[in-house]
Amino acid sequence: MGKSPTLEFDSKWDLSPAPESTGHINLKDQYDLFIGGKWVKPSSKKYFDTINPATEKVIAKVAEANEKDVNRAVQSARKAYNEVWSKLSAGERGKYIYRIARLIQERAREFSVIETMDGGKVIRESRDVDVPLAAAHFFYYAGWADKLKYAFPNRNPQPLGVAGQIIPWNFPLLMAAWKIAPALATGNTVVIKSAETTPLTLYKLAEVIESAGLPPGVVNIVSGAGETGAAIVNHRDVNKIAFTGSTGVGKIIQRAVVGTNKKTTLELGGKAANIVFEDAPLDQAVEGIINGIYFNQGHVCCAGSRLFIQESVKDIVLRKLQDRMESLIVGDPMDKNTDIGAINSKEQLGIIKKYIEVGKKEGATMYQNTCDLPKKGYWCRPTLFTNVSQSSRIVQEEIFGPVLAVQTFRTIDEVISKANNSPYGLSAGVWTDKGSKIFNLTSQMKAGIVWANSYNKFDPTSPFGGYKESGFGREGGLHGLKPYLNL
Ligand code: NAP
Ligand code: MG
Repeated sequence: MGKSPTLEFDSKWDLSPAPESTGHINLKDQYDLFIGGKWVKPSSKKYFDTINPATEKVIAKVAEANEKDVNRAVQSARKAYNEVWSKLSAGERGKYIYRIARLIQERAREFSVIETMDGGKVIRESRDVDVPLAAAHFFYYAGWADKLKYAFPNRNPQPLGVAGQIIPWNFPLLMAAWKIAPALATGNTVVIKSAETTPLTLYKLAEVIESAGLPPGVVNIVSGAGETGAAIVNHRDVNKIAFTGSTGVGKIIQRAVVGTNKKTTLELGGKAANIVFEDAPLDQAVEGIINGIYFNQGHVCCAGSRLFIQESVKDIVLRKLQDRMESLIVGDPMDKNTDIGAINSKEQLGIIKKYIEVGKKEGATMYQNTCDLPKKGYWCRPTLFTNVSQSSRIVQEEIFGPVLAVQTFRTIDEVISKANNSPYGLSAGVWTDKGSKIFNLTSQMKAGIVWANSYNKFDPTSPFGGYKESGFGREGGLHGLKPYLNL
């Protein structure tokens, strides 16, 4: 793939740094567990470091919860459920959730900066996507709290009790909002665990919950490793498990809850197809491809990691795509000009690098942008592979990094069968100016979400979830209430 003589983009804009300030944030050196409305020391007495993946510096020490701590958290959630939360009117529950939403908005800047420091994602994304959407989810579900009978007419919606929730590191605050807001609106209490590399915004949320005056024990927040998550999953007094994370851990959880009364929702991995037809607005499509796979470092379960281009426009799309890739700025996530921030952890960078090697060994042709990378921190250039086949590992397996595998197609039937040839079925994108093609495709794609002429658009009113190994159950929208109710 040579470079185009008719570049639509300059290879790099010469922008002065525009770093977001950190002077306004408030962080402690050490975070204890938030159980029963109090900050409590872990019974293990152990703390682990959470680092900034862009600088490799330790930001804070965070408590490691063991089985005993999880038990304490579940007991306090049960007590709050029995004694307070289940007795409160739905309207009163709604007021607390509104309060949480408003406080997140008031502290949005602080949340954004901490999300970026702890996870490596660009400030533009945490500021414009994660934090506003998290607040929007609380607002949205606050509105449902006293309308459950209208949501499910002729049914008798009842809460389940204690919900155990486990979230990943790619959208820490947002995933917490997706889980806590519907659980509270439906009258459940919560024990939630953050991911090991990104615990901080959940503890900031604990501060918001304190300020909102939420009754103690309604939301309990713990941190720790996989064993902490397993302790929640295996606890006998938990009525519901909501998990977002990898398909591998999802399978372990599913096995663990077999034969119990626990309700489960699993939001797992993905390998989304982004499909560009020859009649698509190509510049818009290229922007959608970039947004779909490279922004947020490809750390998105619904990332458009498989690109299918109709043969007749393959050359032009690839040329535009490479030109646009070359203009992407990889670096300091706190800089408002940066497009691609730090990879979340050293481990994740190792996984991505391994897959890039696999791609090369499989005989695919690689293209990467050529920008400079910072010396410290974990970085990966936006990468694309052509000359791949349906059976290539980089086409079949989730990489969870900024790596795109490109294939071509001639007919709509061909691309539908190729796109569906995946163990996953979370999301997809389609670019065309024909509504009929969009409808044909959306009705045949095995994907929970299909974006048409857009990508990675989220809204609290819209349900999200997968098919096949991408999990089951829906979060968001009216659908997102159901997994927390006995109907
Ligand atoms: P992960 O390794 O599955 O971890 C997810 C969470 O589960 C973390 O809090 C993790 O704790 C915890 N955990 C690990 N082992 C556990 C066990 N045996 N029992 C209970 N909990 C356990 O996934 P990840 O690497 O953090 O996140 C990336 C994955 O999440 C990708 O596959 C991505 O596609 C998926 N994801 C899916 C969605 C969706 O909505 N479908 C959204 C975002 C991400 P530690 O952090 O301590 O390991
Ligand atoms: Mg971190």
